[in-house]
Amino acid sequence: MAFVITHPCTNEKAGECVSICPVDCIVEGDDQFFIDPNTCIECGACVAACPVEAIIDEHDLTDEQEVYLEKAESFFG
Ligand code: SF4
Repeated sequence: MAFVITHPCTNEKAGECVSICPVDCIVEGDDQFFIDPNTCIECGACVAACPVEAIIDEHDLTDEQEVYLEKAESFFG
């Protein structure tokens, strides 16, 4: 279980979440940042740091946002 970075991050990449994560599980990809779902401890600290409200609790993802969890999983392979 994890938090997931969704579409507002695409081409925005503010990156303010990266330094706030206590377990360093946010990594920069080509078009967006990704949260490693296997490392995230669900502290929620990154949610408030994101200026475009891109970070969503996995449990609250809409059907359209589910693709971003799959994208993160494949990014960390
Ligand atoms: Fe890192 Fe916490 Fe955000 Fe997970 S919820 S990515 S552990 S800051």
